[in-house]
This record gives sequence, C-alpha cells and structure tokens, in this order.
Amino acid sequence: MSDPIDVIIVGGGIAGLATAYELHQRGVRFRLLERASRPGGVILTEQIQDFTFDAGPDALLIQKPAAITLCRELGLGDRLFPTSEPRAAFILREKTLHPLPESSVLGIPRNVSALAATRLFSIAGKARMAAELFIRPRTDGAGDESIASFIGRRFGAEAVTYLAEPLLAGIHAGDVNRLSMRALFPRFLEAERKHGSVLRAFRQIRQPKSSSGAFMSLPGGLEEIVDALVRALPADSISLNTGVVAVDRDSEYCVALDSGERLSTRSLVVCTPAFAAATLVDRLDPDLASLCAQVPYASSATVTFGYRREDVAHPLRGSGFVIPRVEKTTIMAGSWISSKWRSRAPEGRVLLRAFVGGARDPEVMSRMDGELVSAAQHELGRLLGIRGEPIFSKLHRWDRANAQHDVGHLDIIAAIDRRLAALPGLFVTGSGFRGVGIPDCVADARATGAQVAQWLSATRTN
Ligand SMILES: Cc1cc2nc3c(=O)[nH]c(=O)nc-3n(C[C@H](O)[C@H](O)[C@H](O)COP(=O)(O)OP(=O)(O)OC[C@H]3O[C@@H](n4cnc5c(N)ncnc54)[C@H](O)[C@@H]3O)c2cc1C
Repeated sequence: MSDPIDVIIVGGGIAGLATAYELHQRGVRFRLLERASRPGGVILTEQIQDFTFDAGPDALLIQKPAAITLCRELGLGDRLFPTSEPRAAFILREKTLHPLPESSVLGIPRNVSALAATRLFSIAGKARMAAELFIRPRTDGAGDESIASFIGRRFGAEAVTYLAEPLLAGIHAGDVNRLSMRALFPRFLEAERKHGSVLRAFRQIRQPKSSSGAFMSLPGGLEEIVDALVRALPADSISLNTGVVAVDRDSEYCVALDSGERLSTRSLVVCTPAFAAATLVDRLDPDLASLCAQVPYASSATVTFGYRREDVAHPLRGSGFVIPRVEKTTIMAGSWISSKWRSRAPEGRVLLRAFVGGARDPEVMSRMDGELVSAAQHELGRLLGIRGEPIFSKLHRWDRANAQHDVGHLDIIAAIDRRLAALPGLFVTGSGFRGVGIPDCVADARATGAQVAQWLSATRTN
C-alpha cells in the first residue's frame, strides 16, 4: 500500500474534473482515477471530414450559470457563443412540425395570445391550458409528484401529451409519469406556491429585449471544456485506464484498482454514475450502496448524419424538434445541428442528429446498430423531405448514461447524505445525485470540492 494521498477522485466525467479543478484552486493535492482511456465521460466531440459535432451533450443552459462561469475561469469566455437565430423548436403532431408557442417558458406559453396563435393544441386543449389561471394551487402538503401529475393537474391532458412528455421529460430521456417535479422543475412548483398559478407567475418574467437565447456552446464542441480542465490540472494528477473495483476502510480509505494495485487516501470523492458508486461503497456501508443503486438510469443513442443541403427540402429554420410518444416513431427528437450552432458543417452541407431510446422506449436499444441508423435515417427523411444518401452517419450508444431523477429522488439523496455523515471523508457527486445537467453537475462538484478541502483542513493533525 502506498503512502496516503489526500484525496482520490473516482471518475473523470465533468463532475470528477470539476471537483479536481476546485481542489486544485484550493491548493489540495489529489489523484483522479478514470476507467476509460479518455476523460470527459459522456462529453464527447467528434470530427468527421469537416463536420464537428457533440455525440453526447451539446448545450450549456445559460440560466444555470455554473458551467458558463467555469468556462470563463478556464479562459474559454471569448469562445462561448449562443444558438443561432431563429431559435424556434418544433413539436410533431399528426405529421406536422408545429413551432413551440412564442414567448414560452419550457414550452408553457407566457400569455394567452401566444397560446391562441399556436396550432399545436386543439381548441379544447387551449381552453384547458388557459384555465390554469383559475386552478387552485395544491395545498394538501402532499410530497413529490411526477411531471405528468403536475402538468396534468394544472394544464390538462393535452399539455402532458404534447408538451410535458416530449419536452420536459424528453430532455432527460425520461418517463413523464415517473420523473420528479421537485427534483427537476422546482421553479414550476415555486410558481404555483407563490403566485397560485404558473401562468400568472410566468407572465411576470421580463424577457430581455436582446436575448442571446437559452444555450451556449463552444466552436470545438463541449469537449473544449474537458481539454481546458485537463490543461488546468497538474500533469500527473489524472490516471486514465484506471478503474476502481472496491473500497475498504481502515484508518484511511483503501482503494483497490483493476490492476491489482491498492491506494490509500484520507478522503474519497466518488464521481461515477450512482449504480457504479453502489458497487464501490458496498463494503463500506451496504445501506449506502443500496440507496445509490435505487437511482435508475436510462439508455439512449444519438445518430448523427451529414447531408448535402440540396438533398434536404425542409428549411431547417430553428434548432430542431421533439416527438410525443403518441406519434409512435422510433426517434424521439431531432436536432438541426448546423442551424442550431454556427460553423458545424462545411458550406453547402447540413448536420442532423436524431435521438432514440430513453426511459420511454427501452426496448429499441436492443436493436442492432444498423437497424437504429436506418430507422433514424428513414424517419428524418420522411419528416424533413430528404432525398439521397447521407455523406456520413455515426451512431453513439449511451448505455445507462441518463440518470433518472424520479419521484422520491430527493428523499433518496437526503438518505444518502445521512449515511455519508457517518463516513467522514467520503463524498459523492455527479449526475445521479444532486443535479443532472452539466451546469448542475459543475455546481455540485465545485461545492463538493470545497467541502472536501474544508474537511481536510479541519481534520489535519500535522
Ligand atoms: C446523450 C446525452 C445528451 C445530453 N445532453 C445534455 C446537454 O445538452 N446539456 C447538459 O447540460 N447536459 C446534457 N446531458 C447530461 C450531462 O451530459 C450529464 O449529466 C453529465 O455530463 C454527467 O457527468 P458525470 O461526470 O456525472 O458522469 P459521466 O460523464 O457519466 O462520468 C462518469 C465517469 O466515471 C467513470 N467511471 C465509472 N465507473 C468507474 C470506476 N469504477 N472507476 C473509475 N472510473 C469510473 C466513467 O468512465 C465516466 O468517465 C446529456 C447526457 C447524455 C447522455
């Protein structure tokens, strides 16, 4: 066994790297162990011919600033750029792509005229949505509820089918009947609680005149953040191809690697998916392990295509579309990447990306790669009037990569935190725990890094 290291970080996705960055900023020495041959986890940018695209996440939400702030600290501030205009997103209903109502917050129209103008909903559906203004807030003090329960209660069934399911659940590759409102959209609950109506609350939000939209990216894709983080950390602090198989505890934590080597550390930060964390902490605390194992994960795949512009009839004026489950397609969404982000495709070419799987359609993931690519190509072709073959196509599978913060998730996290309190020096962070998108992962990782530094200085004996 080696001399104890101050901190071992397990997992080199954005959560592990941001934890490492925070520790480094605070002068704490650490070692980061990553099982894969590259850092970044699900952040992966590909370059094919002159096309550049993110195979996993591609957008940083501006409203949650932690990731943007990190980019600025890393010297990437001048490289950040917003989604191109027009920023329209579309929803498929009965073979037609309808733009999301103008001036909406996560698809919920902010005023009645925007609601009246859209053809996405039936007249009865619109009337029910507008009636949200008069629906009494829930005051029974009952606990968490699903997205479907909340949106159905306030806006009616059509809003669940054509907005909440494809959009609010879709961005998490999740099931609208299971995802937690409290964990994922507390802003809506707050609006209901404070204003008695979501519409009334959203009407009061002032939209800035010159908005740069909701999302940012970087010219070289989101892997630029990974590269910049790695550059900012000490050269010998990251060990790739180094999986952790088990952890024991003596006076220190003893970390067993897949090579057979054992490392000793005073503090351990587990930044793996929650199911992997469950395996790692099992010998330390089986109850903690079973709580981690309760966080479900969905699998999905992205299929990216390059086309000649003249082969795609659709104007592609917007960022893409989502498809409600009731439309019974294989793909659940499509991004018009070269319209959404500038300079991603060479002149005269377009980049398109389709999403399949997720919690709403787990069976599709058992299909062969070729079948998934053909299904995506066929459905994009039908929706966008594509003739001819793509210049390239590339499938990426994301097995158990989408953490599902289902109803009750915050209770699981509270129970995990109680177990951790009895294991001094052990911390967990990452998308399975306190926040799911990159900004939340960065914010929680940095807060965790700060806690680790404090814990080390409070317990240092020499
Ligand atoms: C297809 C897709 C699209 C997405 N789109 C967006 C988006 O546009 N915007 C956004 O904000 N979010 C998006 N997300 C969500 C976001 O990307 C993730 O929540 C976030 O990147 C997860 O980071 P992480 O570090 O927690 O986990 P991961 O990236 O999964 O990293 C965990 C790391 O732990 C390593 N590991 C696991 N077990 C071990 C072990 N035993 N020993 C050592 N290492 C181990 C893994 O190899 C991996 O590198 C998307 C996710 C997916 C899958």
